[in-house]
Amino acid sequence: MEKALAVFQSIATELLADEKANPVVDFIPADQLFDRLDLSLIDQPIDDATHLQKLKELVMATPRTATNAFFNQLYGGRNEKAVLGELLAVLLNNSMYTFKAAGAQVGVEKIVLRKVCEIIGWDENADGTFATGGSMTNFMSMLMARDAFNSKIRFEGVQQKMTVYTSIESHYSIPKNASFAGIGRNNVRYIPVNKVGEMNPSDLDKAIAQDIADGFHPVMVNATAGTTVLGAFDNVEEISAVCKKHDVWMHVDGAYCGSVIFSEKYKHHLKGLENVDSFSFNAHKMIGTPLTCSLIVVKDKKHLRDSFANEAEYLFQTDEDDFNPGKTSLQCGRRNDALKFWTLWKSVGTKGLEKIVDHQFDLADTARDYVRNHPDYQLYSFDDSIAVCFKYKNIPSQELCTKLYEKAELMVSFGSFQEDEFVRFVTINAQNSHDDILLFFKRLEEFVHFNYKVSVKYPFKLIQ
Ligand SMILES: *Cc1c(COP(=O)(O)O)cnc(C)c1O
Repeated sequence: MEKALAVFQSIATELLADEKANPVVDFIPADQLFDRLDLSLIDQPIDDATHLQKLKELVMATPRTATNAFFNQLYGGRNEKAVLGELLAVLLNNSMYTFKAAGAQVGVEKIVLRKVCEIIGWDENADGTFATGGSMTNFMSMLMARDAFNSKIRFEGVQQKMTVYTSIESHYSIPKNASFAGIGRNNVRYIPVNKVGEMNPSDLDKAIAQDIADGFHPVMVNATAGTTVLGAFDNVEEISAVCKKHDVWMHVDGAYCGSVIFSEKYKHHLKGLENVDSFSFNAHKMIGTPLTCSLIVVKDKKHLRDSFANEAEYLFQTDEDDFNPGKTSLQCGRRNDALKFWTLWKSVGTKGLEKIVDHQFDLADTARDYVRNHPDYQLYSFDDSIAVCFKYKNIPSQELCTKLYEKAELMVSFGSFQEDEFVRFVTINAQNSHDDILLFFKRLEEFVHFNYKVSVKYPFKLIQ
């Protein structure tokens, strides 16, 4: 093992040095991948020196997600304390189903979940678990909502026509999960949003009432804390009043920006969260732990057990159920995703998590100010969001993002809202400085200057 760790150290050192010089890796088209890299698997072993060389080639050719040129999707950076926890979790390799197999690590998981419940304002009756990502924690919430509506479904299967509600701007896991849960994609109602991308509670109320009149059973409303494109926050307080009125389970999908619970300054975006039934967030997004670290918490832990407990004598042989987290899990064997979060949290304290969150909003302010003050840009997103959506010189955004990627300049993606398509720049990497944000715009402008020249005409308009 020592030898493998030394190899790891040598690859890591080389990678970290190279990332400084080359923040974006050279583009390899998918159809050339197997020609450019030796990924082949053969019958005979190879010697260690060749093996190391092959590993290095692979690592050096892999997209870099921790540099100041990666703004592609909703994560980024490399938090050293969290990485340390993750490496230790790999070394320890506990499976989180039983106290017998995971011991002290069960305590780590429990304390993280307990602290999150406390921060929300929930008592001892609340609990939670970890799953493999936000799609899966959303899935767990839908299953609990379904079973809370009718506890027989677990045994008899789906026999009633159920509906779920989410905004048109919400994540695609909602319809996917509706199909897994036996509710059906066609029974997902997409509620319109206002001009800043937040679900309209009165439209929600009407849609639920209409479905009830039509003989459907509304089982869940999903509100989003940080919509995928604009980073908008649905109004939890108003939506929860509608849910209460119709007696429907309310989940908040905070995969992207739910971590605002750690910030005094920004937690108002989730005002009323203590009234919802379940809440999920990805620490691998705003908090910056390695993938994946996705938590779901429920106000009443009974629902976790009702939907996910199964007796299994061969597995659950000792200890109280409370210390056998396999009884509230979607999985059987499960990675220890809590340790990286705990390692970071232990180091920086809750105040440190708050700083991580606040810094991302500060970086977004810097980016928005820049876009607003430069007439070649047009802004499409709104204040209090870590997504800064813009167009530059009216260049088609999809084409611009693809060219930046192919020429290994910047990793950034595009998105759309209603009629508009734009570059979606996310300030989710808390390790970036304000200068890194300005450097992004400089790189973009230089790239356009050298690659677009005369071809672009733009009558642009400023919207704010
Ligand atoms: C990222 C995201 C998800 C999905 O989370 P994964 O961990 O990628 O499965 C769900 N909802 C929202 C709002 C997200 O931003």
